[in-house]
Amino acid sequence: MTLPLIVITGASSGIGAAMAQQFSAAGHPLLLVARRIDKLQALQLPNTLCRQVDVTDAAALRTAIQEAEGIHGPVDCLINNAGVMLLGQIDTQDPIEWQRMYELNVLAVLNSMQAVLSDMKARRSGTIINISSIAGKKSFPNHAAYVGSKFAVSAISENVREEVADHNVRIMTICPGAVETELLSHTTSQEIIDNYEDWKESMGGILAADDIARTAMFMYSQPQNINIRDVLITATRQQ
Ligand code: NDP
Repeated sequence: MTLPLIVITGASSGIGAAMAQQFSAAGHPLLLVARRIDKLQALQLPNTLCRQVDVTDAAALRTAIQEAEGIHGPVDCLINNAGVMLLGQIDTQDPIEWQRMYELNVLAVLNSMQAVLSDMKARRSGTIINISSIAGKKSFPNHAAYVGSKFAVSAISENVREEVADHNVRIMTICPGAVETELLSHTTSQEIIDNYEDWKESMGGILAADDIARTAMFMYSQPQNINIRDVLITATRQQ
């Protein structure tokens, strides 16, 4: 049996790469997008189209999706995973970092949903999984701008879920707690990075990217008439 196409953004590392591996192991053809094409290709997954796409470029993402659909048929699941976390204090942080976070974490999610939703509605089938964060539900030190972007992802996801539910399309949100990935490395303040590392150590470790990939697979694998709308998953000791 041929399984349907899954699109994963930001699959070149961390949670996206782990999801690519799990969905591929289950037999799905994939479209993987990120800026580091070498990292996508290094995953060496069968039946997988890797494309160098900056997802803030809505047209480039649409082109890659159309190419993948030409080969594998319609997108059955889009996973909006690409994101960046740039921690900082509002009075000192470079506003360019806010712009980067909102263009990628928020506007690119809107654009990529728009790229697939009309077709999913017409087919009366399809799933979008948006990767938000526990920072889409509560605040943390030095997280103000990032928290705002992830609250936006959670709010937008719930609103779009209501819009498309009648069309039998599922919108799901996963809100991970801290996960061991490259995410923290893009923050420019070494002091903030060091404090974050101490916090992780104080909990005796955090989640692995595979934990989130398993969660996404479980949610997607439910029958189309079941929508696990919103999952908050954290290390047991995380507050
Ligand atoms: P990583 O930094 O490991 O992965 C981020 C991914 O996003 C990379 O594949 C990166 O690829 C991609 N990406 C970044 N910018 C762009 C862009 N402009 N266009 C296309 N792809 C881009 O971090 P995680 O795996 O942790 O992050 C995945 C998601 O999980 C994010 O949305 C993050 O906010 C969320 N999350 C993470 C948590 C954690 O603790 N790690 C906790 C809660 C949520 P490339 O650089 O090649 O473009």
